[in-house]
Amino acid sequence: MTVFDSQCQCPCGQTHFSVLKAPKLRLYCHCEICQRVYQQPYSDFTVLPLSHVELPMDDIRFKKLRPPPYLQRGFCQHCDQPVAGIFTLMPGLKFAFIPSANYRAKKGLPESSGHLFYHRRRVPCDDNITKHHGYWRSEWAVTKAVLTHVMMQGRT
Ligand SMILES: [Zn+2]
Ligand SMILES: [Zn+2]
Repeated sequence: MTVFDSQCQCPCGQTHFSVLKAPKLRLYCHCEICQRVYQQPYSDFTVLPLSHVELPMDDIRFKKLRPPPYLQRGFCQHCDQPVAGIFTLMPGLKFAFIPSANYRAKKGLPESSGHLFYHRRRVPCDDNITKHHGYWRSEWAVTKAVLTHVMMQGRT
C-alpha cells in the first residue's frame, strides 16, 4: 500500500496546504484557459470535496475565467501560479480542483479518468484514457465524474 503524502504547495512554495484524504478523481483538461494558465498543452488536476482542503485564503487571489463556468481559479499571491480552483456544482456543493503538480509527492494520486475539451488539443495523447470532445460533452463529463467519484467522498 502506498502512503499518501497530503502536503500540497504552489510552485514557489509560499502557499502551502494539506488535504484530508487522497483524491479519488484526476482529469486532464485541454481547454484554452488551462493552456494559458498552466503554460502547458493541457492541465492535470485532481478533484476533492472542498471540505477536505484547508486553503490559506490570505495567500490566494481568485479569478473567474471561462470556460468552464462556476469555476473560480485561485492563484498564489507570491508567484501568480495556480494553487487550487473552487468549483460550485450547486449552492452548498463545492469541490476543490488541485493541480497534480501541487502535491509534494505524486504517489497515491489516481490515474486520470479522462481528457476534457480534447477538441482543443495542442498535442495528441496516445493513451487509453477517454477523450471528451466539445464544450458541453466535456462539461457533462466533469460533472458526471465529480458526482460519481467525489460527491460520496464528501459525505464521509
Ligand atoms: Zn507561489
Ligand atoms: Zn481547462
